[in-house]
Amino acid sequence: MDNLAKAAEAMRSAQHIIVFTGAGVSAGSGIPTFRDDLTGLWERRDPQRLETAQAFRENPALVWGWYLWRRQQVMQAKPNAAHQAIHRLSGSERNVTVVTQNIDDLHERAGNQEVLHLHGSLMRPKCFACHRFIVGPLVFPIIPAEGALIEPPRCRRCNGRMRPAIVWFGEDLPPGVWKAASQAARQCDILLSIGTSGVVRPAADLPDIALASGAVVIHVNNVDVSMNGPNEIMLIGPAEKILPQLIALTLT
Ligand code: NAD
Repeated sequence: MDNLAKAAEAMRSAQHIIVFTGAGVSAGSGIPTFRDDLTGLWERRDPQRLETAQAFRENPALVWGWYLWRRQQVMQAKPNAAHQAIHRLSGSERNVTVVTQNIDDLHERAGNQEVLHLHGSLMRPKCFACHRFIVGPLVFPIIPAEGALIEPPRCRRCNGRMRPAIVWFGEDLPPGVWKAASQAARQCDILLSIGTSGVVRPAADLPDIALASGAVVIHVNNVDVSMNGPNEIMLIGPAEKILPQLIALTLT
């Protein structure tokens, strides 16, 4: 039996499945991942200069402009066949928990309304000073180019600067979200890990938590990212190609 058939067989008998996604699930929608060769965002930008509270303190207009530009890229992208296949799986009779490291909203736009965003979202600004989420509508300006300097809007309550509500280097994960995700990882039958390099912790611990609790972990990635454990199945290829095949086989 090949790995795809093996994975589908395991999926068919599972009651609770976690779909755990990383930047690779959105690569097929044209959103660059962080660490891929040639197209990775980090090849052109030093994340330490843009994705820390310190960077925001030093140059809020550069950091806000960078995130507005990324947000605009996401708004122009569409969910791909992988996001759609995940939504199809969620509509089956199984208990499916979607956990993402992504800060885009492509799972939501594919139809998954309840998504655990471990690293927050580009779509919801919050106040850098009082940490409250923005009240009322916010008009996002059109960003002419990556690197544009744009002064962040001010919080209506405390006049602090607004920042994107994403988890920067050195910051903790939203505690309720991590608790829900790690609890689900301890209880699932299968964790489907899609398009993640597995280096950003603690998010990357979720597959290990699932394995330690007796679950099967199915990896979908362009490259082999498995540890070759007895309960791991590696499916090599683009998520937007493999996921529709896996879900179709699972639901037949
Ligand atoms: P990563 O960039 O470290 O790794 C991406 C992984 O996806 C790699 O292992 C790569 O081989 C694989 N990949 C690339 N294209 C693929 C495809 N078409 N199908 C399947 N796999 C593919 O990303 P990460 O592991 O998610 O961790 C880094 C951080 O990047 C996360 O915290 C996340 O917030 C952030 N990020 C998010 C987005 C987004 O929201 N779309 C984009 C870039 C980075």
